[in-house]
Amino acid sequence: MENIANNDCSCCYTKYEINDLFCKTCGFPFQGTEQDQKNFLSERNVKEIDLESLNEKVATACKSLYWLSGLTAFSAIVIYFSSAGEDQLATLMTNIFLILSFLGLGIWSKNKPTAAMITGLSLYLIIILLNAVISPMTIVSGLIVKIIVIGALIKGIKAVLEVDKLKKELNID
Ligand SMILES: [Zn+2]
Repeated sequence: MENIANNDCSCCYTKYEINDLFCKTCGFPFQGTEQDQKNFLSERNVKEIDLESLNEKVATACKSLYWLSGLTAFSAIVIYFSSAGEDQLATLMTNIFLILSFLGLGIWSKNKPTAAMITGLSLYLIIILLNAVISPMTIVSGLIVKIIVIGALIKGIKAVLEVDKLKKELNID
C-alpha cells in the first residue's frame, strides 16, 4: 500500500505522509478536528505577532549599546578636559577601550544579540563597580542614566530570550 501522499501542510507547506498525526516541522494537527486546526493556526498567529513586537524590543536594546558607546565618549571628553595629572592619559586610554568595546558589541548584537547584551551589561556593571571602589561617590553620579541603561539592557536580554523560546516553538531556525 502506498502511504506517501503529495500533501503539503496547510500551515507551513512541508510535505507530510498521510498517516502523520502532526506536522514534523510546525506541529499542525493533521488528524485533529477542524476546530483543533483552527485553534492551532490562531495560536500560531498570536505567537508570530508576539515575535514581531519582541524583535522590535531587541532592536531597541541593541541600540542602547551604541548609546553606551556615545555616553562613554561624552564622559571621556568631559573627564579629559576637567582633570589633569599623571593618570589623565591612562583614563583616556581606558575610556577609548570602552568606547570601542561598546561599539563592537553594538555591531556584534546584530548577529548574537543575547551574548552581546549580556557582555555589554557585565562590562557596564564592572565599570560602575571599579569606579565605586576607586571613588565611592561616583556611584551616585549620573544615577538615572545608569538605571536607564541597565534597565534597557535587562529588558533586551529578557526579550531576546523570549524570542529564542518562541522561535523554537514556531520552529524558525
Ligand atoms: Zn507544518
